[in-house]
Amino acid sequence: MKIQFLGTAGGRFGVSRQERASGGIYIETCGKKLYLDPGPGALVHARRNNIPLEELDAILLSHVHQDHTNDANVLIDILTKGGWEKKGILIGSRTALEGHENIEKAILDYYLNFMEKIVVMEPGDTFDLDSLKITATPTKHGDPKGIGFVLKGEKTLSYVSDSYYFKGLEEHHKNSDILILNHIFPREESTAEKKNKDHTDTYSAEKLIERTDPKLVITQHFGLTMMKVGPENEARWLEEQTGMKVVAAKDFQVFEF
Ligand SMILES: [Zn+2]
Repeated sequence: MKIQFLGTAGGRFGVSRQERASGGIYIETCGKKLYLDPGPGALVHARRNNIPLEELDAILLSHVHQDHTNDANVLIDILTKGGWEKKGILIGSRTALEGHENIEKAILDYYLNFMEKIVVMEPGDTFDLDSLKITATPTKHGDPKGIGFVLKGEKTLSYVSDSYYFKGLEEHHKNSDILILNHIFPREESTAEKKNKDHTDTYSAEKLIERTDPKLVITQHFGLTMMKVGPENEARWLEEQTGMKVVAAKDFQVFEF
């Protein structure tokens, strides 16, 4: 399994500055090439890192927000040669692919028609991409239909996506080989003191890590204050508290297992 971070910025302010990139995550597993949450800059950074965009098997969208979907339309255009070849599977939350209540979908109908298959997932749904089992997990976030993913293949990868911690979240991400956390807020920006309880802060990351017992935690999707504080410092604190291996991803970093 290979995971490459095409950016580690998250949230509207973290992304707007582009001090870190925000192009999402490229994954190779079970012979499949997946692009997860292609935020702004995915195209540029994928090209600079030689990601085979014409060969993607699936694009996965956890929720509708721009920092997770912005470049998805252009990735579809590239994958399908502007619609000449109907191919690839688009997997995503209902809001991202269909819209929900007053939130418009992120993918234009024009590009949806280029895909070979579209899979709308709700928490608990599963989809088998040959030997890779994809399960949608629940989130609590600005997008009411947002999901995370568990990819079970040669390794088990848990991607919580954007969510604040809620009781029971850990049940969906237990005992993974790799747990990816969108770690927007450091301790000094604890969401417990914030009105906007939309994201994972260091304290909720601690809870989640302790209760899910993964082999490795990778943090990413850092907000602006987190970047100033230093994601590595928060990761080190999490390691000390939990006794587990926690790595703060760097832009374009590759992990191979
Ligand atoms: Zn979001």
